[in-house]
Amino acid sequence: MRIRNKPWAMDYLKENGHIVDTEMNYKNKVKQFFDTDQPLQIEIGTGMGTFITELAEKNPDINYLGIELDKNIIIRVVEKIIEMDLKNIRLVLLDANYISDYLGEGEVSKIYLNFSDPWPKTRHARRRLTYHTFLKQYHHLLNDEGSLQFKTDNRGLFEFSLKSMNEYGMKFDEIILDLHDEEPEDNIRTEYEEKFSKNGSRIYFLKASF
Ligand code: SAM
Repeated sequence: MRIRNKPWAMDYLKENGHIVDTEMNYKNKVKQFFDTDQPLQIEIGTGMGTFITELAEKNPDINYLGIELDKNIIIRVVEKIIEMDLKNIRLVLLDANYISDYLGEGEVSKIYLNFSDPWPKTRHARRRLTYHTFLKQYHHLLNDEGSLQFKTDNRGLFEFSLKSMNEYGMKFDEIILDLHDEEPEDNIRTEYEEKFSKNGSRIYFLKASF
C-alpha cells in the first residue's frame, strides 16, 4: 500500500485522541477507551479500515479495536469513524509485536487478520502475523470461546499459516480455499480483497481456535 507521508499525521491523530491511541494511554485499560462495556474484537493491520468500520456498523453491541502501525494509513480509518459516527470502534497506533503488552489475558473474543503482509523470504518468516510468536500472543489474548479469522490471497502465506497453527495445536473450525466461489453473504470485503478479486486472484479463508 503506497501512502504518501503526511507531515501533519501525528498532530491530526493526537487531536483525535478519543478515537485513536498514539501514546499507549489505554495500555492495560482498553475498556476505558469505549463508551460501553461489551465484547471486544480486534483487527490487526486495518489498512484503510473498510472492513472494521463496516463490521462495527453492523454489530453495535460489539466493541472493535483496530491495530495499525502506519500513522499515514490509520488517518483514513479515523476519518471513516468520524464520517460514519461510530461509537464502538477505537484504534491504536501499534506494532502487533507488542499487542500483549497493550491488551490483557482473555480480553478479546475474536481476532481478524486480513491480507497480512506475506513476507515471502524465509529470513523474514518471524514477521508473518501467523508466526508462532504471534500465535502465542493471540492465545494469551483470546478468551476460551475466542477465535482467529484469517483471509489472504497469498497461497504461500496461507500454507505457512496452516502449518504454523497446526504445529501450535490450534483447531481449524473452517477452511475455504476459494472464498469468492460461493461468497458467504456476511463476508465483508477489505480494500485488498476487492483489488485482488478484480485481478481474478483466489481468496483463502480460515477460522481457527486454541
Ligand atoms: N487489512 C487491510 C486489507 O485487507 O485491505 C490491509 C492489508 S495491508 C497488505 C497490511 C496492513 O497491515 C498494512 O496497513 C500494514 O501497515 C499493517 N501491518 C503490517 N504489519 C503490522 C504489524 N506488525 N502491526 C500492525 N500493523 C501491521
